[in-house]
Amino acid sequence: MKKLTALLLTLVMLLTMAACGGKNNSDTPTETPDPPAVETPAEPESPEPEPYDIYDPTVMPEGGVRDGVTYVAWDGIVEHLFFHPVIAYPELAFDGDYKEQGLDDWMVTVTEFNRILQSVYERGYVLVDIADVWSETTDESGARKMQRNTLYIPEGKKPLIVSYDDPNYYEYMLENGFTYKLILGEDGAIWSWGLDPQGNEVVSQDLDAITILDKFIREHPDFSPFGAKACLAVTGYEGILGYRTQTDKENWTAEREANRQKEIEAVKPIVAELKRTGWTFASHTWGHIRLDSGNMAKITSDTERWFDEVGSLIGETSILIYPHGARPDGNDWTNTGEAFRYLQGKGFRVFASVGIESFSFVKKDIAAVICDRLHPDGTTLRSSKVDARYGQFYDVREIFDFDTRPNYGVNWE
Ligand SMILES: [Zn+2]
Repeated sequence: MKKLTALLLTLVMLLTMAACGGKNNSDTPTETPDPPAVETPAEPESPEPEPYDIYDPTVMPEGGVRDGVTYVAWDGIVEHLFFHPVIAYPELAFDGDYKEQGLDDWMVTVTEFNRILQSVYERGYVLVDIADVWSETTDESGARKMQRNTLYIPEGKKPLIVSYDDPNYYEYMLENGFTYKLILGEDGAIWSWGLDPQGNEVVSQDLDAITILDKFIREHPDFSPFGAKACLAVTGYEGILGYRTQTDKENWTAEREANRQKEIEAVKPIVAELKRTGWTFASHTWGHIRLDSGNMAKITSDTERWFDEVGSLIGETSILIYPHGARPDGNDWTNTGEAFRYLQGKGFRVFASVGIESFSFVKKDIAAVICDRLHPDGTTLRSSKVDARYGQFYDVREIFDFDTRPNYGVNWE
């Protein structure tokens, strides 16, 4: 319901903006005379966005059927896969420099990502938004707690959450085979911008995990029956989405602040378009800090900074994705320590780590959910037992990009 309202509001705002087109400067004193009134309608400033429908999976469609598809209740596990930015140009990522091993470990290539998407789609997974899987309620004693929602999904399908960590377009990635930033194309849609290995500018929808998923869903709308895409877990220390919106404590100048303000204005319509088309956001802390450190001063100052510099751009979120998978207070499902309590007090309700299965646990003593995510990446692609854990999503033998990854070998059983 909240989402529908937001969608309507966006539409109303867009219509209002369109209606005001060309009149923005009517109060500005000017030397040129007003142009004569003409009958022809003004050229719209930007194209009408394609309408994008978002549905709430916790509500059964009327009569149990929507668009000819029958929906059924799902109370089983909701699987969760996460990815880092994908490698667009393996020849830059795997060039033997000191970053190669890390990129091989934690990333997948565009080729592998496309194969994984195709496989999970063929195996009957459909995307759901992580924020729809649990919700906050009050129990009989008046205490606030989280509850797992029943999802109503197309018959025969299985729900899947996808999250992307660090879509910040960090400086180090730019020369290592990744796209540089997201932009809005002339069509109003999201594209990536970057440089190819020869230094040519490339605007594409085939080189970035965000635009690839958008495109895949345009081509296979039944992969996203509710309009959900993935949850983007962003830090703040090098800005977001390729825009340098961060502050720096050292050598801050008026010029740098002016540039930061420009970047902030540039990223806002991109955030808006992502949210309009089913993407959601999570905190990944400002500085990619470890939340298991016990250093409360660091955790609080980092969190404040995330809200100031990132939350102010992406809006409210109840999702926190732990950097390094490091759980606050050591063990977040048995302990509720100072760090966890503080973060929950800041509005986070779903706390996601990394694990060997899509484990989730609703905490009893505080309104919060702990959930783990699986990680298709070089480490698991190289060492997966072929049918264990990842076998429900894909056959690793059909995914691994032998043509471009370094020759470190695989350990498949
Ligand atoms: Zn991260």
